Amino acid sequence: MTKQINEPYIALIGNPNSGKTAIFNALTGLNQKVSNYPGITVEQKLGNATLPNGSKIKILDLPGTYSLTPESIDERIVSDQIISWMENGNKPSAIVSVVDASNLSRNLYLTSQLLDLGIPVVVALNMMDRVKSNNNEIDDNALKNELEVADVIPMSASEKWGIEELKVAIGKAIENSNSENDTLPFAIDKEVESILHPLTDKFKSWGYSNRFSQAQALRIVTRKSVVSLYENIQHCTQEQCDELVAIRENIINQLDTTKHPHRTLEASLRYAWLDELITSRKIYKKSKEKRITRSEKADSMFTHKWLGPVLFLGILYFIFQSIFTMASYPMDLIDALVGQFSDFVMEIMNPGMLRDIMVDGIIAGIGAIVIFLPQILILIFFLSLLEDTGYMARVAFMMDRFMTSIGMHGKSVLPLMSGYACAIPGVMATRTIDSWKERLITILVLPLTSCSARLPVYALMIGAFIPDITVFGFFKLQGLTMVIMYLLGTGTAFIIAIILSKFIDVKGQSSFLMELPPYRVPLIRSVMHQVYTRGKLFVLNAGKIIMAISIVLWFMATFPKVDNPQVDVNPIHTSYAGQVGHALEPIIEPLGFDWKIGIGLITSFAAREVVVSTLATIYNIEGGEEDIVSLTDAMKRDINPKTGKPQFTALVAISLMVFFVFAAQCMATFAIIRSETNSWKWPAFMIIYMSLLAYFASLLVYQGGQYLGFA
Ligand code: GDP
Ligand code: MG
Repeated sequence: MTKQINEPYIALIGNPNSGKTAIFNALTGLNQKVSNYPGITVEQKLGNATLPNGSKIKILDLPGTYSLTPESIDERIVSDQIISWMENGNKPSAIVSVVDASNLSRNLYLTSQLLDLGIPVVVALNMMDRVKSNNNEIDDNALKNELEVADVIPMSASEKWGIEELKVAIGKAIENSNSENDTLPFAIDKEVESILHPLTDKFKSWGYSNRFSQAQALRIVTRKSVVSLYENIQHCTQEQCDELVAIRENIINQLDTTKHPHRTLEASLRYAWLDELITSRKIYKKSKEKRITRSEKADSMFTHKWLGPVLFLGILYFIFQSIFTMASYPMDLIDALVGQFSDFVMEIMNPGMLRDIMVDGIIAGIGAIVIFLPQILILIFFLSLLEDTGYMARVAFMMDRFMTSIGMHGKSVLPLMSGYACAIPGVMATRTIDSWKERLITILVLPLTSCSARLPVYALMIGAFIPDITVFGFFKLQGLTMVIMYLLGTGTAFIIAIILSKFIDVKGQSSFLMELPPYRVPLIRSVMHQVYTRGKLFVLNAGKIIMAISIVLWFMATFPKVDNPQVDVNPIHTSYAGQVGHALEPIIEPLGFDWKIGIGLITSFAAREVVVSTLATIYNIEGGEEDIVSLTDAMKRDINPKTGKPQFTALVAISLMVFFVFAAQCMATFAIIRSETNSWKWPAFMIIYMSLLAYFASLLVYQGGQYLGFA
């Protein structure tokens, strides 16, 4: 998990949302995602920078953390990294402690912990623009002297000033890494100090400095989990670790007879010191006038008890309706272009197998997916917008009580909403959830939120079989059907979460600790960058799978060639694909599906959207090569030979959509859950429960619908 870097480097460490990534980008000229939502950087990023003195250096961007006592997985990455530095000597040449100056005391808490490492620290006093616009002041020189750090640089990464000064300071800090002070900057009560002594000694015996040993003693007393940080290091043999735990137990018992509860020992010592610094020594000068910021005003509305949720639902409806209306023009355009392109290829290529693969396999398959790109991009656009304005953090805050009541956490909302775009970034975003139980539940139900790969399926079925009429005088039936599919997935996710929270036997609940970033006008450049990168990811990932599957499918649908074809039997029936589909038909017939859909269900196990290109491929082939019709028309014209009626009806379309709401058809999700939970058990569990859910829900819809008389 920890990174070994074999060249000189510096590390950026700071609270979530303090501007680390913005500073990383400013120093390296790279373009990492900057987001107005805490906990976005969950992995370490490495980049190169050139300092003003000409020397080149690597820069490591670490995930945000409030303290070196880890509470969640992403915080743990930082703690692990630091222990590994102290152990293996692979220390950075300097640490840039990124501080949100408008939240000085809480941010300096982490800085104060970094001071104990014996590594030169430069404080990047970021967000000074905010401090200034509130007419507050910070005495950076005094701060530098009090903290005894290499330097304190006031700056603003977003307004792009102070960056050169930061670079100069980094260069200087590396050159004259002066002798550090080997005692903690705050005094510890004599009685407490002597109680802690056995632990401090233990760490010293491992070769740690006096100051770091004292700090570690404090930390390990607060949280037992800190012990596990040592498990991978050479000093901590099983015996040593057990001994550590035993000493700790003993110390806790002694401490709790004094007036110093062990859980808050470190925090109270550090905060007492910092608060004294900041207020009594007048480092932070607050302006007299207390202004209500615009963010605070907006919050009285957006996080209002009932107005907040209503606005949230309104925004969701607006987004989903726009997906339909705004996307229709580019979609028609793409449709026409793909049609022309395949006509063009028909003309320039000689008839034969290669042309068939190109037109019926590849172009038909890819075209069927590219056409949904506009809708996917619009969805990503709105989600990035919500994140960047700071609204998403409000949603997390607002929903926390509800989410906790169904076994998840306010921080589950962003992963779940990311799930609307794609489950994979969603699963990764759960790393910010502190408690393992809440995180696991979020991961397991997340694939139920309708990702953008389902969108093509919904869009195809709704566009073809749900009439374009207005109902209740106001809602468009098509948009409404779409919303219902999304709600069905999300609602079921909530219900499953409740059930899982009763059965999953893992301890631990977390508290809501997340700051609300101020509202911001989103940076269009950054939003567009998001749309571009996520869109590209979708096209490339999906494209590769679809290309491969289209070719395999075309092959399976074309072979074996029959020597004397019967006139009225389409050759696809006897092909390999047809055989598989027919074998499956009895099982899926009660759901209203025929063998062609059966083939689609199999191919879409790789990825959901493949079902559309599969149907496109099958219908193109069945139609014969001269007859490239749009998929919608082909489906509408398709007559089921068994019943003599159209194969596709509104009921079949709904049954199929419901199947796709629930079914776990995505290899990539399976893979990411395997790696994030580090077990086969949970991804296997996910596939089984989702498949059963899909089958029985579709069965209910189709049989129920027929019983009620819908054809
Ligand atoms: P990280 O979580 O520490 O990596 O923080 P980011 O770099 O993603 O920044 C968090 C948010 O703060 C983003 O919305 C940034 O645009 C914003 N931000 C970063 N630096 C500054 C700054 O100096 N001033 C202001 N006002 N906003 C900033
Ligand atoms: Mg970041």
